[in-house]
Amino acid sequence: MRVDFAKFSSIKIGSVLDVKIVDDGNYDNEIIIGRATNSLVCSGNIGLLDDKYDFVTIKDGILRVGAKTKNAKLYNFAKAHNIGGFEFLSKLPGSVGGSVRMNAGMKDWVISTYLLSVNSIDKSQFEFGYRYCNITMPIFEVAFEIHQGFDITKVQEFANMRALQPKLPSLGSTFKNPPNDYAGRLLEAAGLKGERFGNVGFSQQHANFLVNYGGGSCDDVLCAIATAKKRVFEMFGVMLQEEIKIYN
Ligand SMILES: Cc1cc2nc3c(=O)[nH]c(=O)nc-3n(C[C@H](O)[C@H](O)[C@H](O)COP(=O)(O)OP(=O)(O)OC[C@H]3O[C@@H](n4cnc5c(N)ncnc54)[C@H](O)[C@@H]3O)c2cc1C
Repeated sequence: MRVDFAKFSSIKIGSVLDVKIVDDGNYDNEIIIGRATNSLVCSGNIGLLDDKYDFVTIKDGILRVGAKTKNAKLYNFAKAHNIGGFEFLSKLPGSVGGSVRMNAGMKDWVISTYLLSVNSIDKSQFEFGYRYCNITMPIFEVAFEIHQGFDITKVQEFANMRALQPKLPSLGSTFKNPPNDYAGRLLEAAGLKGERFGNVGFSQQHANFLVNYGGGSCDDVLCAIATAKKRVFEMFGVMLQEEIKIYN
């Protein structure tokens, strides 16, 4: 199947690639992409999950979710069934598989909080950290503990946090926050806020968001990232680490 990642991805930048539709019987080392809301896909041996991994269900008191399921669908299911802990997904784009791989979250909430297993392997077999987990296999299905009590006040809190974020196409935060600091603060202090690289640039609203002003290219993104890392390192001695995933 041909996919134009300049249309598919949230930053609206990427290449047109032949991708394989992957299931647990035909996986052959492809890089699995979910919704590309955290990935710049310029080249590579890319796989997308088969549609059979798009489901949310409760079985034997456990929430079972296919990795292709959109976060929004899991959020709606949790809300409809009065399940707590997934409120932050109301404002988190992407798929459940990608979110588990990234250990995505907002404020104190991360998707691994109530996670029980990945592909039926117990969570204790994996390490989770800040926007990190050490899972290297394709994620097909995950299971979560059910905690009753969907909290609508949290949804409003997350919406308020989002109000200040750039509306232009992006991949969310470009860099991870270094220990005891903020990537956005360092980028701003290095004069990168609002700086453009071709058709992309570090947003005027939030310096850690690299936004596409229209017609941005993979090279524009790579140039912006390399320049920012170099400048921040030269000025502050901090080597920023990408939060986004780059397949180039
Ligand atoms: C406007 C905006 C705001 C955002 N805000 C936040 C935020 O507040 N907090 C936050 O944590 N993130 C945020 N993000 C980033 C993004 O929403 C999350 O990282 C999301 O969970 C990524 O899901 P995805 O399906 O798009 O992953 P992708 O971008 O498709 O993939 C991300 C990584 O996971 C791997 N992967 C994807 N699916 C699988 C699978 N099934 N099996 C194995 N590996 C897989 C990919 O290879 C890649 O390495 C934001 C993004 C945008 C655009």
